[in-house]
Amino acid sequence: MNRRKIAIIGGGLGGLSAGYFLSKQGEKVTILEKENFLGGLVGGFKMEGENLEKLYHHFFRTDKYLIELLEEIGLADKIVWNKNSTAIYWKNKMYPFNGAVDLLKFKPLSLLDKIRMGLVAIYLGLDNNWQKYEAISASDWMKKAVGKNGYKVVWKPLLQGKFHKYYKDISMAWLWARIHTRGNSKNEKGEEVLGYIDGGFEKLVERLAELIKKNSGEIKLNSEVKNIKDLEKEFDVIIDTRPDKEVEYLATVNISFSSEQNLSKFYWHNINDPKSPFIAFIQHTNLVGTKNYRGKNVYYLGTYVPQDHAFLKMDEKILVNQWFDYLKKIFPEFDKTKAENVSVFRFKSGQHIVKTNYIKPVYKVSEKIYKMNFAQIYPEDRGVNFGVREARKLIELI
Ligand SMILES: Cc1cc2nc3c(=O)[nH]c(=O)nc-3n(C[C@H](O)[C@H](O)[C@H](O)COP(=O)(O)OP(=O)(O)OC[C@H]3O[C@@H](n4cnc5c(N)ncnc54)[C@H](O)[C@@H]3O)c2cc1C
Repeated sequence: MNRRKIAIIGGGLGGLSAGYFLSKQGEKVTILEKENFLGGLVGGFKMEGENLEKLYHHFFRTDKYLIELLEEIGLADKIVWNKNSTAIYWKNKMYPFNGAVDLLKFKPLSLLDKIRMGLVAIYLGLDNNWQKYEAISASDWMKKAVGKNGYKVVWKPLLQGKFHKYYKDISMAWLWARIHTRGNSKNEKGEEVLGYIDGGFEKLVERLAELIKKNSGEIKLNSEVKNIKDLEKEFDVIIDTRPDKEVEYLATVNISFSSEQNLSKFYWHNINDPKSPFIAFIQHTNLVGTKNYRGKNVYYLGTYVPQDHAFLKMDEKILVNQWFDYLKKIFPEFDKTKAENVSVFRFKSGQHIVKTNYIKPVYKVSEKIYKMNFAQIYPEDRGVNFGVREARKLIELI
């Protein structure tokens, strides 16, 4: 076989998956990553002696492309499935929000609101025709479907949290996909379960890098590509996984820390208060246990903001103090002097803004250049699973 020389710009999960599939087929792959680490948005760091993602990560039972890949590369035994537990913080109170029983007990909604909310979730879970939602905004559709109060308490904060000032423009197709997928990530008992990789997603990043090298591929860190045209002489094909210039993105800001304090019994907390600087509070160890983290509890606080937002430039200490002060409002027992390994992570392109009638970026740019980035993931919410799916699709195209 005539081996083609293929450059992949970006060593995130998308680039690494494509690099692995192509090198397995015998192509000569070179990954060019601008940072001094691989993994992009799933990149990890050491927390209490264990690998941990800089940004919270889990996956669903429906994430078949990711699960297949983990099986193929010998990491199936690292998959751990645990029951999800979600809560909503609304008007100074935390409410459990896991399925029908919690919904019925959820005080901020009237009985009629609850019935509408439940029926809408069932309807969207069963409906496979997402195209009909493309031109409608999630905000308008939901307001009509669940009523004013259900929208105000549950869906508006979620949309606002994820898309900030763009929340009214977001396509219902995106929200359909989110509800449709989540509704189906259940175990035999009907409980929602979430997956994690024991030892962190870094295990996946490391294994893919190892296999690419084993298949005679090359990985070059600290190799920022400034002009794609410069690569055309040396390579037969170029795959560009960088954030797409044609698409608008929001940045993401996350704080992680460990503590001996156990603040909550839930894993995921939607903070439905526009005054909160973060939209999600995650007690990671309530999903995966504290065993790997020297018995400490591990937490994330996270949000999405426009790329010119003050949070991106703010001094880390000021940012942490501001966010911790709000955390203390939610959990008065929170003692910031007990927070250890406090780290701030900011990524400029964390979420593409999926407006109504969203047009995803093209794959083929020219005979030699192909784009493969997470803004092509639509209507699904971007995620590692779909990055693997896009990589599989792309190798068929080139
Ligand atoms: C807060 C947050 C939470 C998330 N949680 C989950 C989750 O729970 N489950 C899930 O499945 N997904 C989750 N995701 C999504 C998931 O992280 C992404 O879908 C996936 O990591 C995207 O991979 P990628 O390779 O397409 O992009 P990226 O990870 O962005 O990779 C792009 C790479 O290109 C590099 N690069 C950029 N410019 C250049 C250049 N000029 N030259 C060379 N290299 C360059 C970057 O450094 C980066 O490494 C989350 C994302 C965020 C932001």
